[in-house]
Amino acid sequence: DASDLLRSSLLHLSDSSLVRSTIEKAPVSRHVVQRYVPGTDVAHAVQAAAELRATNRQVTIDYLGEDTLDAGQAAHTVDTYVGLLRALKARDLTRFGAAEVSVKLSAVGQALPKDGEKIALDNARRICEIAHEADTTVTLDMEDHTTTDSTLSILAELRKDFPETGAVLQSYLHRTEADCKDLATAGSRVRLCKGAYKEPASVAYQDAEDVDLSYVRCLKILMAGEGYPMIASHDPRLIDIARALASRHGREPDSYEFQMLYGIRPEEQTRIADRGHQMRVYIPFGEEWYGYLMRRMAERPANLAFFLRSLASK
Ligand code: FAD
Repeated sequence: DASDLLRSSLLHLSDSSLVRSTIEKAPVSRHVVQRYVPGTDVAHAVQAAAELRATNRQVTIDYLGEDTLDAGQAAHTVDTYVGLLRALKARDLTRFGAAEVSVKLSAVGQALPKDGEKIALDNARRICEIAHEADTTVTLDMEDHTTTDSTLSILAELRKDFPETGAVLQSYLHRTEADCKDLATAGSRVRLCKGAYKEPASVAYQDAEDVDLSYVRCLKILMAGEGYPMIASHDPRLIDIARALASRHGREPDSYEFQMLYGIRPEEQTRIADRGHQMRVYIPFGEEWYGYLMRRMAERPANLAFFLRSLASK
């Protein structure tokens, strides 16, 4: 239908460099971008983390950027994470993992044509070491389906030294129930989301309802298992189901957590935290906000109208 068409057009636009440069050059109203991305620098991210902590929310911080084909850029990303983790620790924000980081392996070298997987593993290991020194954790974001096997195998390597390293699984993929079974083990942190990329029918459910049903099946496996489920969704029905499953399995509030994105349903975030649940907010920062923002627009075309109006009014 029309909304599917719009969604897939927006996901295509997220790959369009012409549209990207047009929007970047346009006098984009800063507050629209800032609703989802608090700023370009480490200092902005740390400030946003401190503000969220003040309202009882935990955070995971992502330095924006993906699919780099430049080893120098990958090294810059690692350095930025190192600086970020040290700045968070200096502000006493990392204690008990209150502020952790999310890393896209394609930003630290996974897509490099030569030895990409090895470079990404070494770079991610360095970030895990610094996170460990700062008493906190790393979660490996999940990207498009061509990277899933590689990302899960790098995760398994990292977990030998840093068992607290988190995984992300996407309920839109047919394979994900099986991956949930593999990862629902003691000490395993698993973020379950619906999935944000444009994927073919050969690997992914295309119908929103099928994605939701898969999410519930995956959630049942994770909640019944021994691991630490991280329920990453703004969907009120899925959040209710997660709460019901947690209580059915007698889970303590510190044995799972909810996660939402910065700027999305902020009142609901504080409401869930105030009810005694753990709520972690994913904060993206950096210059590379374009692809991230387009994926958020694709999820909710109402935001696109808001965005276009603000472009026109400047
Ligand atoms: P939807 O069906 O999209 O939304 C449900 C409801 O939430 C909507 O009806 C609306 O009320 C509200 N809502 C949703 N989006 C918006 C919005 N933009 N503005 C306002 N309200 C909105 N995806 C990956 O592929 N890999 C990852 O590593 C990854 N990490 C994530 C980490 C976190 C913490 C979160 C929250 C999401 C992550 N995602 C990731 C994105 C995820 O896959 C979905 O694309 C995204 O969360 C939207 O799905 P939803 O579950 O919120 O449900």
